[in-house]
Amino acid sequence: MNVRWKLRRGSGRLVVELHGDFDETADLGPLASALYGRVAIDLGGVRRINSAGVREWIEFVRNLPDVTELTLIGCSKVSVAQLNLIDNFRGPAHVESFWAPYSCSCGNEREILLEARASDHVRRRRLPTAPAVICSCGQAMELDELPDRYFLFLADQPVRLGAARA
Ligand SMILES: [Zn+2]
Repeated sequence: MNVRWKLRRGSGRLVVELHGDFDETADLGPLASALYGRVAIDLGGVRRINSAGVREWIEFVRNLPDVTELTLIGCSKVSVAQLNLIDNFRGPAHVESFWAPYSCSCGNEREILLEARASDHVRRRRLPTAPAVICSCGQAMELDELPDRYFLFLADQPVRLGAARA
């Protein structure tokens, strides 16, 4: 199986770190039965997702009877692509943080962990703007994707974005 996971306790919730490829070999059933209460799933180590992997994942997030709160954290670029492409990819989960590619005119490229922070001041259906990130050369780095596309999955989750401290 190309998907592996590791469980740990973190700030009052169970954190699941998922690694590898979501494909036809993925079997998340054994993981589903181990989860309960507040759960955060870290998708930072997911490198590839094919259509069989999407089906397995959607089945998984929909069938977690003992989970009371489901959060996705550290979503990798490929998971963000699926969140944007497939409406029910996140299931009942709330997205807390995800990686975004930034680049600088000096040639520096970095992935930055962005945190989606709930905000009462954000109007619904308005997409957040990319937070400012300063390059080690002192210039402002730019988001390497179109914000209207990369942040599309946040349309129904009114938030403002902040760069997490590394
Ligand atoms: Zn730079």
